[in-house]
Amino acid sequence: MYLDSIIAIDGPAGSGKSTVARLLAQKLKFDYIDTGAMYRAFTLKALREGLDLSNGEALIALAEKTELDIRQDAANGIKVMLDNEDVALLIRTPQLTKKVAHIAKVGGVREVMKRNQRRIGIRGRCVFEGRDIGTVVFPEAKYKFYLDADFNERVSRRCKELQEKGQDVLFKDIDRDLKLRDRKDMTREIAPLLKADDAVYIDTTHLNIDEVVGKISGYIK
Ligand code: C5P
Repeated sequence: MYLDSIIAIDGPAGSGKSTVARLLAQKLKFDYIDTGAMYRAFTLKALREGLDLSNGEALIALAEKTELDIRQDAANGIKVMLDNEDVALLIRTPQLTKKVAHIAKVGGVREVMKRNQRRIGIRGRCVFEGRDIGTVVFPEAKYKFYLDADFNERVSRRCKELQEKGQDVLFKDIDRDLKLRDRKDMTREIAPLLKADDAVYIDTTHLNIDEVVGKISGYIK
């Protein structure tokens, strides 16, 4: 049964879930599915098409005719396929990050994303990372985790990550952006960021990546 080999990892930005999910997938030889990248890729398409991001109907219609997929790439991590174009390197800009919330709150768009994600998951052996995997996309997954960390720690991690990519960042700007994103992700009406009742809660504030991967691995049989 494919659901026995689906691992769901949810949590807010900066909780460590992307790095942990990627390493865990490597360790288990599972596919790593970054669902945030799918939301980002679709946002890129909507911007390219010049859509008004407050027009839910138009966004849903566009989502229905968009092909989205995540493919594993031994050399570079993952390929984020948007209508057969790999957009992995185009979807992490601060400008685009700010726009994703417009897309993520539209129920019909989330339905299309969920359909895509379930299609990917049916092959099993996947680590899914996102905001609503354990609650909405795969509520029946055998393994569910919710990663979290103190707010200041999450801001520091995000600053470090962006600085390492060569971006000029200020703590106070990241602090503001993350607060806004948390609020939008946690308070949207449809599929808000929530810990599933049966997910294992892991506070990563004082843990390094290997320790978190080790902790999660301990639950996987
Ligand atoms: O994980 P990442 O930070 O790349 O996600 C970008 C945004 O995509 C999130 O802030 C959230 O608004 C949206 N998202 C979502 N549901 C998911 C994954 C991401 O709403 N499963």
